[in-house]
Amino acid sequence: MSGVASGPAGAAGGAGATLGVDERFGPYGGRFVPEVLIAALDELTAAWAEAREDASYRDELARLLRDFVGRPTPLYLAERLSLRLGRRVYLKREDLAHTGAHKVNNAVGQALLARRMGKRRVISETGAGQHGVAAATACALLGLECVVFMGTEDMRRQAPNVDRMRLLGAEVAAVEAGARTLKEAVSAAIRDWVTNVATSHYIIGSAVGPAPYPALVRDLQRVIGDEAREQALAAEDELPSRVIACVGGGSNAIGTFVPFLDDHGVELIGVEAGGDGLESGRHGASLSAGRTGVLHGALSSVLCDADGQILEAHSVSAGLDYPGVGPEHAHLRDIGRVRYEAVTDAEALAAFRELALLEGIIPALEPSHAIAWLLKSPREDEGYDLLTLSGRGDKDLAEVGERLGDD
Ligand SMILES: *Cc1c(COP(=O)(O)O)cnc(C)c1O
Repeated sequence: MSGVASGPAGAAGGAGATLGVDERFGPYGGRFVPEVLIAALDELTAAWAEAREDASYRDELARLLRDFVGRPTPLYLAERLSLRLGRRVYLKREDLAHTGAHKVNNAVGQALLARRMGKRRVISETGAGQHGVAAATACALLGLECVVFMGTEDMRRQAPNVDRMRLLGAEVAAVEAGARTLKEAVSAAIRDWVTNVATSHYIIGSAVGPAPYPALVRDLQRVIGDEAREQALAAEDELPSRVIACVGGGSNAIGTFVPFLDDHGVELIGVEAGGDGLESGRHGASLSAGRTGVLHGALSSVLCDADGQILEAHSVSAGLDYPGVGPEHAHLRDIGRVRYEAVTDAEALAAFRELALLEGIIPALEPSHAIAWLLKSPREDEGYDLLTLSGRGDKDLAEVGERLGDD
């Protein structure tokens, strides 16, 4: 496994929850980390259990989400897209959040938690740079020191985001190991955390990693689903038939789905990166085409070979180009509550273009996968659909220009 595993710590506990913070999701989750991190994960669990019940933390977070991030984000009836599909579709506009995507919800919540825990130094890691920018933004906001680990190959490919992080006062720590991308950056961040755990908080950017991170990130992202459910009821007087979100590590999807889990009439669909197609082996569909295995500290559904060696993921979209997924999604798949589907790079690119032309919204390539699934999945009922548009596409223009130019 990549860097973080070391056997039996993950088997400890066995209980589903610690202090009411979920540790296991069915058989998935846990803590497959070096022993020295267990105390820090316990401390974080306790801090989160306390903070999420504390009015002073909640009020401060609510104020920042409102005045700094720009929440609530609108729920928008996409009329021309609806006409094209023959049914009403609402878009939850996370693209309108500050920094252009949902990742800031989690980054601000965790930075506020770090400050409350007395940790003035934040470590993070980034592949495409989106989470690094969100973490750097939250740290500038709260006056925290910020170090973002990034592979040198990713630094080359994502130079504008390196510039953004530096402008925001973060140190971008170059990682030269291996393929010089996200996997190596995560390992470097964890090594730093092991050394500096007393003074540093590690902000993980998706609903992945050892407990309590999957629960912590889910709790911070459920603002998406809480708002959307209330806005949908206000607009339509009934719940949507289908709720759709894209799945990389799974944070925008789990945050969208959680408030609907007990609404049994609502179908939940997570859309993964199908890359060149599942049969090609070049994709990022860890739920549709993965196996049970350990990656970055948790047991989940991952892309790996029969020996548990992690395979490379492939996707046109950097945010979905990850060989793992949050453990709660693996559980929701197994119990049949959420359906996971994959769409290809080509389908996502076509959907990217279609939404721009139909709605005047340039979506990120990640939620373009969710749009693509919707475009090819008509449903005949009186109901309507709700789709989380997790971010805007400005960051993807170069990639899309190259790919569409190819055609
Ligand atoms: C990072 C990113 C994703 C994928 O991350 P999740 O944790 O699966 O939400 C999706 N959409 C956008 C816009 C992103 O930046």
